Amino acid sequence: MRTLITGGGGFIGSHLCERFLAEGHSVICVDNFITGTLSNLDGFRNDPRFSFVGHDISHPLQIRGPIDNVLHFASPASPVDYLNYPIQTLKVGSLGTHNTLGLAKAKGARYLVASTSEVYGDPEVHPQREDYWGHVNPVGVRGVYDEAKRFSEAMVMAYYRTHNVNTHIVRIFNTYGERMRLDDGRVLPNFMGQALRGDPLTIYGDGSQTRSFCYVSDLVEGIFRLLFTDHHDPVNLGNPEEVTILEFAQEIRAMSGSASTIAYKPLPADDPKIRKPDISKARQLLGWEPKVNRHEGLARTLRYFQEKVASEQTRKIA
Ligand code: NAD
Ligand code: UDP
Repeated sequence: MRTLITGGGGFIGSHLCERFLAEGHSVICVDNFITGTLSNLDGFRNDPRFSFVGHDISHPLQIRGPIDNVLHFASPASPVDYLNYPIQTLKVGSLGTHNTLGLAKAKGARYLVASTSEVYGDPEVHPQREDYWGHVNPVGVRGVYDEAKRFSEAMVMAYYRTHNVNTHIVRIFNTYGERMRLDDGRVLPNFMGQALRGDPLTIYGDGSQTRSFCYVSDLVEGIFRLLFTDHHDPVNLGNPEEVTILEFAQEIRAMSGSASTIAYKPLPADDPKIRKPDISKARQLLGWEPKVNRHEGLARTLRYFQEKVASEQTRKIA
């Protein structure tokens, strides 16, 4: 099988490239590195079944030969990144989705798009089930991401209904692990970077807001299973173990043996107060549930960031 992955140079995309190669696929990674990192490809870039296309997927892409699967993961994903690149985020969610759907249609390929728990916005239903339509502020700062993803889902369903493309929509809840960027501004790289440098851990608001964190290998397993179903409606994938941001800070600080203090900062606009996936559908449809608990996942990720911070400090000294 030949599988094309947009955003394959990013955090989740690079784990997907690795997984599909391990399953015996040829993988074409498409990325413009707006938020990705070339070194994410280090583990497999020399694999003869791997190829890289430097391209902004908001513009159409021609690929020669057959393609069996198209996975559209390109998009700035952290709030800091998508606020830095609001127009690019809207374009990759709309035009990028259209272009990748066109490619899947032309090749008769299976299609899967990375959607997000952000389609639920600041939810009034808890935990979030797939049949909840969400509570999003379209003109707020986060609207560029949330609405791009909502549009993306609508476009995918239109290609399924109109052109019968074999489409899939995964709604991903906060996922973490190796190859996140230390400076992407998300809560986990921030807290781990701060704890390892001995800087204060920055809590936005009072830290009572919740998130539910899923380790990347669990997410990748769910995506792989979903792609090979014939289920076209959205499916939540995430770890339902919910934690407040204050508890999360304390957990990371304790785990890293850091003496960092905690610094409270203003809560960004429209920051969701609670988030937790209802994964009944994924359990039933895919026989899937997360296997890596938060302690284990955080320990693995902390080892990765320890190396990153150490090499940052060596560079500073040199
Ligand atoms: P990431 O920033 O590490 O990866 C995104 C990749 O897409 C980067 O390599 C970036 O350079 C590339 N990209 C962005 N715009 C592009 C364009 N126009 N053309 C080509 N490449 C482009 O982020 P991530 O956390 O790995 O997220 C991957 C996908 O999963 C995104 O679509 C994101 O919205 C979705 N998602 C992630 C999470 C999460 O918790 N990590 C949660 C929900 C949804
Ligand atoms: N957050 C925080 N300190 C930080 C970064 C984030 O308290 O240094 C909070 C943020 O306000 C949000 C939660 O952590 O409530 C998760 O933020 P993140 O940017 O990781 O992703 P989100 O789930 O909001 O998309």
